[in-house]
Amino acid sequence: MSLNFNFSEEQRMLEDSVVKWAYAWLEPQMEHMYEKDEMPPDLFKQTGDLGINGIVFEEKYGGAALGYVETLLAYESIARVSNALSMTVGASQTLCFDNFRRNATEEQKMAVLPKSCTGEWIGCLGITEPNAGSDAMSMATRAEKKGDKYVINGSKIFITNGPVADFMVFYAKTAPEKGPHGISAFFFEPKKAKGFTCEKIKKWGMRTSPTGLITFEDLEIPEAQLIGGLNKGVAVLTSGLCTERITLSGCTLGSQRRCLEDSIKYAKERVQFGKPIASFQLIQGKLADMYCWYKACRWMAYSAAAYCDSLDHKAGGKGTDLDRMAAASLLFCGEMGTKIGLEAIQIHGGYGYCQEYGVTRHFLDQKLWEIGAGTSEVRRMIIARELMRDDFKSGL
Ligand SMILES: Cc1cc2nc3c(=O)[nH]c(=O)nc-3n(C[C@H](O)[C@H](O)[C@H](O)COP(=O)(O)OP(=O)(O)OC[C@H]3O[C@@H](n4cnc5c(N)ncnc54)[C@H](O)[C@@H]3O)c2cc1C
Repeated sequence: MSLNFNFSEEQRMLEDSVVKWAYAWLEPQMEHMYEKDEMPPDLFKQTGDLGINGIVFEEKYGGAALGYVETLLAYESIARVSNALSMTVGASQTLCFDNFRRNATEEQKMAVLPKSCTGEWIGCLGITEPNAGSDAMSMATRAEKKGDKYVINGSKIFITNGPVADFMVFYAKTAPEKGPHGISAFFFEPKKAKGFTCEKIKKWGMRTSPTGLITFEDLEIPEAQLIGGLNKGVAVLTSGLCTERITLSGCTLGSQRRCLEDSIKYAKERVQFGKPIASFQLIQGKLADMYCWYKACRWMAYSAAAYCDSLDHKAGGKGTDLDRMAAASLLFCGEMGTKIGLEAIQIHGGYGYCQEYGVTRHFLDQKLWEIGAGTSEVRRMIIARELMRDDFKSGL
């Protein structure tokens, strides 16, 4: 019996095409767009042409019917050039549209998903609120039933793609007295809506990925735009969290790899004391550590994705092994990614601290992955909870 660690021919071709596109199309504009903090306007059309947008969606919706391993590989490949834009694609396609696909009716899916696959529509997902971050269930956004509509009041913060979104999935309290059992999921088209505003938030990192503070003021949504059933929002929310954490690990993996590659190249080129700095053992030690951290992260993320793809329902949630594996994947990738980014800057010295090389950009983006999609502390709480489960018996 052998253990196969190799990607298939099809997966290699996918990686190859995305990496080639990222270096040819994204790389030349990254420095300029990062400075301006603007997303390349054609980004989603481009990823649509590459076949990434609907990578796990069924073919009838315009998707490629592949798995979460391929999604992770695609996100890692984009992030070799831009962690931020990999996150923006992931926020739209995995957080928003894939979550919608898991929970919407067939009619709703037929109306929405083809537009997401072509890149005509960009999506965003609204969970976090100004006073409800890690404690997401304490959200205050209200959806009050009035006739055959819901009237929404409240706000969402840090919403990736909020300022550019054509489609939004969000959560609101439909029965506040029931706590987490009184939350429902809704969707709507922000650009056509009255009672919706979005203010762009300035960030130090993840520039080019637009982030918004959203306000709902008497926004009216037809009852038919409720997803997953009344007061069933928590099930909708948690069903997607594992695949989000696994596939978004790709954003950090791409940056890790790029930081390592750039550091090897720079260390061989940069001469001090009459020798390339790569000849100094203290620099070699950093490169060796960066390699080990990257390889360990890769194993955690891809094994979690492969495990997810092996499940019939491809979903996690409280009390599942996938919940532990997904939280561990993003926890480890996030923290190791920051360490790798810091070492890359150190190897590049003063040049690394300036904008001439991209390692600082990768580092600034990378830090987000200890915060977004549930913080490192929250991920540790999930892992520990699952390890201490009474029925925990699966192999570690
Ligand atoms: C660039 C960016 C993009 C984002 N994109 C989205 C998006 O698209 N959609 C969306 O809904 N959200 C998004 N978020 C929000 C993100 O998920 C939250 O920032 C995150 O969940 C943490 O919430 P918070 O920032 O309110 O921190 P808080 O919850 O206030 O936490 C502050 C600190 O306290 C710690 N802490 C909190 N509770 C505990 C505890 N019980 N035990 C120990 N420590 C604890 C946290 O780990 C953290 O270190 C994004 C955030 C950023 C910065």
